[in-house]
Amino acid sequence: MSCSPSTTTTTTSPAVSSRTMGLASIRATTIPTSRATSRHLGGTQESMADRLDSYRAKRDFEATPEPTGKSGDEPVPAPRFVVQEHSARAMHWDLRLEHAGTLASWAVPKGIPTDPKRNNLAVRTEDHPLEYLDFHGEIPAGHYGAGTMRIFDRGTYELHKWRDAEVMVTFHGERVRGKYVLFKTGGKNWMIHRMDPPEDPDREPMPEQVAPMLARTSKDLPVGDNWAYEIKWDGVRAIGYAEGGRLRLARRRSTSITARYPELRGLGRAAGAH
Ligand code: MN
Repeated sequence: MSCSPSTTTTTTSPAVSSRTMGLASIRATTIPTSRATSRHLGGTQESMADRLDSYRAKRDFEATPEPTGKSGDEPVPAPRFVVQEHSARAMHWDLRLEHAGTLASWAVPKGIPTDPKRNNLAVRTEDHPLEYLDFHGEIPAGHYGAGTMRIFDRGTYELHKWRDAEVMVTFHGERVRGKYVLFKTGGKNWMIHRMDPPEDPDREPMPEQVAPMLARTSKDLPVGDNWAYEIKWDGVRAIGYAEGGRLRLARRRSTSITARYPELRGLGRAAGAH
């Protein structure tokens, strides 16, 4: 499906093909152990400290073995998030944020954007139980959400703002990292926007169309690591574009032939966000 001798189109470069989710920029992430500041927003620590003020005022902790009640200074676990790749009737990514004892959830049809130039639709879905942070597997046919659910990424997040129509967080995952805002546009519809610069500033977005290099007869093949070639067999040559679990097949001059090959439709889901 790809074109032969390729110098600049780099259709196989991971930096380009990982269009939606920025797989090219997976790096090991160190998750800070103390994220107490995120809980300050909820006021839990402040009020705990306030309530112990008079207890502490009455005691000299240099002299008494009684506890100071400074446990609030210990690291508080940061809230967690998960992104599940859900190959249901239509493929989408489910973003879930631990908040107020449940998982606030959004279904994101095109995945979490890695570039601030792009806002992706995020449809608010019902809150899920915390145990869903670890859920992956098959939801049986005929049931709600039937299909395969895989964990795309999980980690912790810092909470900057949580309002009815706006949620601002910084993700600390392995694939999903950086500052994002979710904002409501109407009804269940929200958008998710990356506020940080692109994770990989050198990454070029996948073009809408890639012009294949046409086959040519050649006695001398080019040499060097930047070249690859394939023999032109008889038949149909096409380029497959996969995004958000959907596949589009195009011949040269971009004639779409997707509908002619229903048996290849599954490739879109197989590629997922990769
Ligand atoms: Mn889902």
